[in-house]
Amino acid sequence: MHVMRFERMLFFQGGMFMLDLVQRQTQLQQRKAELTLRLRNIETELDAHQSKDWAELATERESDEVLEGMGVAGKLELAMIEAALQRISAGEYGFCAACGEEISAKRLDVLPYTPVCKDCAARNAEHK
Ligand SMILES: [Zn+2]
Repeated sequence: MHVMRFERMLFFQGGMFMLDLVQRQTQLQQRKAELTLRLRNIETELDAHQSKDWAELATERESDEVLEGMGVAGKLELAMIEAALQRISAGEYGFCAACGEEISAKRLDVLPYTPVCKDCAARNAEHK
């Protein structure tokens, strides 16, 4: 349904950039679905561990920590994907949230959900 709407936008607005945008959006939505599923599996796994006895719990605590770590990283990425999808809807996607410059396609290939350009990301990293 979303694709249909975007195809219509593509028809009206034309241009390569819109086509790229549709591809990015599809890519982000696929990643979002993948992450949502993975996070659900992690939570199911963690819940299952809670019903076991203490001996089993002790041996599984380490793997729980790994799972929780994956969960936190996944949730963070999911939040960034959500934000990127919102930027697509708002027509702001592909432009740096800090300086307003266009983010290179190469960078978006690697980090499709990034809100900032390479220069601003490097500047942020320096300050930390
Ligand atoms: Zn920037």
